[in-house]
Amino acid sequence: MRKPAGTLIVITGSMFAGKSEELIRQVRRALYARKKVQVFKSALDTRWDSAAIATHNGVRYEAVPVSSSAELERLVEPDTEVIAIEEVQFFDEGVVELCNRWADEGRTVIAAGLDQDFRGQPFGFMPILLALADEVIKLRAICVRCGQPASRTQRLVDGRPASWDEPTILIGAAERYEARCRRCHKVLHAPRNGHRRARRTSQPPSTEIAEQQERLF
Ligand SMILES: [Zn+2]
Repeated sequence: MRKPAGTLIVITGSMFAGKSEELIRQVRRALYARKKVQVFKSALDTRWDSAAIATHNGVRYEAVPVSSSAELERLVEPDTEVIAIEEVQFFDEGVVELCNRWADEGRTVIAAGLDQDFRGQPFGFMPILLALADEVIKLRAICVRCGQPASRTQRLVDGRPASWDEPTILIGAAERYEARCRRCHKVLHAPRNGHRRARRTSQPPSTEIAEQQERLF
């Protein structure tokens, strides 16, 4: 039999868009087909325990927390056919090369993650991962303000929109998040040429991320 052609699928969109549900659906489908599957998530994701994936035969899969792309590389077994990664935007950039290489090897890689930060700017290396993908599934949430489709994640601190100059990844702050449409999404003190300036601010140094055990977005 010919070696299967690999594929890189990226599931993206704002928070509350159903990215994890879509990843679980794809993983469950692969399990029904008796593929060997491994599921991972970023150890930085401490907001909630990811849902265990239950199958008809009673097998439960839980996403294994991983703190770096190097660790991820060590944990993937040689005969794994489907590799699924949740919250991929929280990994270091090495994950991009890994995902691409695994797809080149004939495996199916399903990576789910935010495409934008709270400012509405590209999140770290996600644009590269999206460009390398064979398939992009971009999901939208529903704006909590107006009910229109929402593609952005609103960060609120004490009930007020967060400021542009806040770090992309916050630790231990009393903030919360909402899905909002382009019109209802607000960032305080956003520069006019925000998109160009964002190139310097939207990607935190990977070491900074690694040092943060607790984080939010
Ligand atoms: Zn809206």
